[in-house]
Amino acid sequence: DHGLSEADPEVRAIIDKEKDRQYKSIELIASENFTSRAVMEAVGSCLTNKYSEGLPGKRYYGGNEYIDELEILCQERALAAFHVDGKNWGVNVQPLSGSPANFAVYTAILKPHDRIMGLDLPHGGHLSHGFMTPKRRVSGTSIYFESMPYRLDESTGLIDYDMLEKTANLFRPKLIIAGASAYPRDIDYPRFRKIADEVGAFLMMDMAHISGLVAASVLNNPFDFCDIVTTTTHKSLRGPRGGMIFYKKDPVHGVDLETAINNAVFPGLQGGPHNHTIGGLAVCLKHAQSPEFKIYQNQVVSNCRALAKQLTEHGYKLVSGGSDNHLVLVDLRPSGIDGARAEKILDMASITLNKNSVPGDKSALVPGGIRIGSPAMTTRGLGEKEFALIADFIHEGVQISLEAKSLAPGTKLQDFMKFISSPEFPLGDKITE
Ligand code: PLP
Repeated sequence: DHGLSEADPEVRAIIDKEKDRQYKSIELIASENFTSRAVMEAVGSCLTNKYSEGLPGKRYYGGNEYIDELEILCQERALAAFHVDGKNWGVNVQPLSGSPANFAVYTAILKPHDRIMGLDLPHGGHLSHGFMTPKRRVSGTSIYFESMPYRLDESTGLIDYDMLEKTANLFRPKLIIAGASAYPRDIDYPRFRKIADEVGAFLMMDMAHISGLVAASVLNNPFDFCDIVTTTTHKSLRGPRGGMIFYKKDPVHGVDLETAINNAVFPGLQGGPHNHTIGGLAVCLKHAQSPEFKIYQNQVVSNCRALAKQLTEHGYKLVSGGSDNHLVLVDLRPSGIDGARAEKILDMASITLNKNSVPGDKSALVPGGIRIGSPAMTTRGLGEKEFALIADFIHEGVQISLEAKSLAPGTKLQDFMKFISSPEFPLGDKITE
């Protein structure tokens, strides 16, 4: 049996290039992080070889005594990491990722065409919360369920809870989804609970982006108010790619969530769990209970604030005016550039972040903002001083984008892309200066 370099030098070389890219760039994508070597060892282990359809003690295959031990350990650590009592809450650690975790919840508690309300994607919500456009039902969630998104108050950049309440009272959703992919503020769970109770809806929180911050008690705790909490495991939590679903053990609206959710994951939507991921997740959840993890998550927030402060000093407009968590959303429209162009230029300078729509945007293809997150570079040891410097770099990149735009032959994004990579625009020199 050969190692990778010998067995497949082609794939080895691609991995090496990607590793080099990760090491050499300033990684600011808010949903990314660098997991630990210990997690990667578990993910790269023999656990990947085993089939274990079912739950611990109730498997469809033999030879699962150690897999059972691992999954139970992972479940116990998940409950402990989020400070929830195993008497009142249970957890399924088998979802293959965040979107399948969410879809499992929907199929567990809803019938096809039941109504749901989640934050609209152009206002910071996730695809899997029911995204659709006037022309097309984009996400599977909006194909199989009737989705009526709620939105932000464009004047404040905060969730418009009053409008959500009004719409919910008219639309009468069976499920309200809290949580977001690009929302820089903490969430008012008591308000969500009140609205859900008014209309008799289930309340689910998708804490994918902020689960590390929740585990470290840096942000409000969704478990005190929600019926179901889902998460990915690879963002601020710093685990392997995967998903989890926490559910209340007592029936909610007459539904036994434990049975419904476990059955929705398997056999409803998935087959064998990815045991190597569950192994990596168990390692991550042990770490999530350590004092260093709390220090790390506090630093994630402090770094994000330092970034926000310095960007504001450079004159940028931040959606909601700042950040409570690990990300800032910069509205570039007043600066005269769009997010797509800024992303491209910054990418050329090895600063990786993503274009993002901001409230009031006309086009989703050329959105007016960028989303910047602090978890990954905090993992790499940067502090507030360095994050202020990153804001300076971003400012420089945006200035260059503006210059390129004014030099560009057309205003179309495609022309711009062609232009900035042409010898006419010697961006390389500027960036290596
Ligand atoms: N939920 C939220 C809030 C997210 O931001 C994301 C991913 O970015 C997901 C779910 C989906 O996770 P995955 O990409 O693992 O399916």
